[in-house]
Amino acid sequence: LTGCGADKTNQLIVGTNATFPPFEYVGGANGTEIIGFDIDLAKQVAADAGKELVIKDMKFDSLVVALNAGKIDMIAAGMTITEERQANVDFSTPYYEATQLVISHHDVDFSSSEQLKGKKIAVQLGTTGDTMAKDFTTDVSAFNTGFEAVMELANGKVDAVLFDAAPAQNIIAGKPKLKASKVEFTPEYYGFAVAKGDHELLTQINSTLDNMKTDGRYQQLLSQYMK
Ligand code: GLN
Repeated sequence: LTGCGADKTNQLIVGTNATFPPFEYVGGANGTEIIGFDIDLAKQVAADAGKELVIKDMKFDSLVVALNAGKIDMIAAGMTITEERQANVDFSTPYYEATQLVISHHDVDFSSSEQLKGKKIAVQLGTTGDTMAKDFTTDVSAFNTGFEAVMELANGKVDAVLFDAAPAQNIIAGKPKLKASKVEFTPEYYGFAVAKGDHELLTQINSTLDNMKTDGRYQQLLSQYMK
């Protein structure tokens, strides 16, 4: 031990990107706290493990790197379980089903993904929306947050934004000039990620999720955050 500061063995260091409401965002009583569905689940994982929860907010694109560098123990960031990511991290059991939505101006209709072909699309860097957008067009602009991508759309710089459904609805709420349309995208499943081979933490996360689903706390949190 170097003796410089906190005892890390008693902390659960969770990486997130707090621009993804209602999963993780800045809010709370004084508007400076990182809160959300994922954060509450992570709190319970820490409590069940007898550890102190420490949240580290960073770019979505940096989370896997930080995990593999040992800077964080776990990612709680509405992260979709994908094969590509599974090459670098281990995922918990899925805890939420999501899909991408197409955000556009209210008077522009997107009813099929075909209509995205060749369009200008803004996304959040390193997300599944980013990967999918590239299947439709070479004109993809990637931002560090979904808010910035939506701003680009509002400013008329792009035709559409591809973003996860619940955060998309959240971001466009109160913006009558924008809408979010469901096209035929396949479901995605969010998982918490741990470093490859961290069986102890993975087992803890899965058992916490399991218990919370069984005793109703998971459902309670869902209805609290998904309004
Ligand atoms: N679910 C998407 C992904 O995993 C977006 C996550 C996010 O922006 N926090 O890429």
